[in-house]
Amino acid sequence: MLLCDFHIHTKYSDGSVELRRTVDLYGQAGFDVIAITDHVVNGDNTIGRLARRFRFSVREDNFDEYISRVREEGERAMHKYGMLVVPGVEISKNHLSSDKSAHILLLDIKEFIPASWTYEKIFLAAKEQGALIVACHPHQMSDMSRNTLFLWNNRDKYARHIDAWEIANRDDVFNVISLKKYPYIANSDFHKTRHLYSWKTLLNCEKDIDSIKQCIRHNKGVAITLFRN
Ligand code: ZN
Ligand code: ZN
Repeated sequence: MLLCDFHIHTKYSDGSVELRRTVDLYGQAGFDVIAITDHVVNGDNTIGRLARRFRFSVREDNFDEYISRVREEGERAMHKYGMLVVPGVEISKNHLSSDKSAHILLLDIKEFIPASWTYEKIFLAAKEQGALIVACHPHQMSDMSRNTLFLWNNRDKYARHIDAWEIANRDDVFNVISLKKYPYIANSDFHKTRHLYSWKTLLNCEKDIDSIKQCIRHNKGVAITLFRN
């Protein structure tokens, strides 16, 4: 099965490791597929404006550079490690209340989507680009300051737009996802080197982006594993 991590931050947002070093870290650890998913933060409130000011966000003006750097690294990673690198973002709707906040991975994204758009507009634009839509850390986390509960609380309205939910994020496991029988993946939410050792996804499919998206959407041949050194 393919060893995968679909949720990784670099210095393009709030990660502490440069893109190239991150790719080498995963390549040397034997991963088959990774997605680089730096934050795209909403700028329509104070938290978002601060994040953008301190460059903890990919923005419209550097999005194309970000995607082309990820693609360049992807070519190098395929050549050197046989590892597929998928360009992505984490749309980060941050509000003071965790009930209003949500983070959404868009995998295989091609064009910029602002985090200040409505959920409907974001999901529609992502679908038009053929991107995979993943609800991140959707339930109570061990670090309660990071809780983002909007999509789970409003799942009756939004679940039909969501291709998969994170059933595990780094050290947290969300068993409500399995109770609902939603399609699932597990990711590290990598920000630091030690986050490499965390929950991961295993996929039984070919190592190309279309097979991977299909495998996750259909939720067949998907497993999770706790990756330890
Ligand atoms: Zn997040
Ligand atoms: Zn994240």
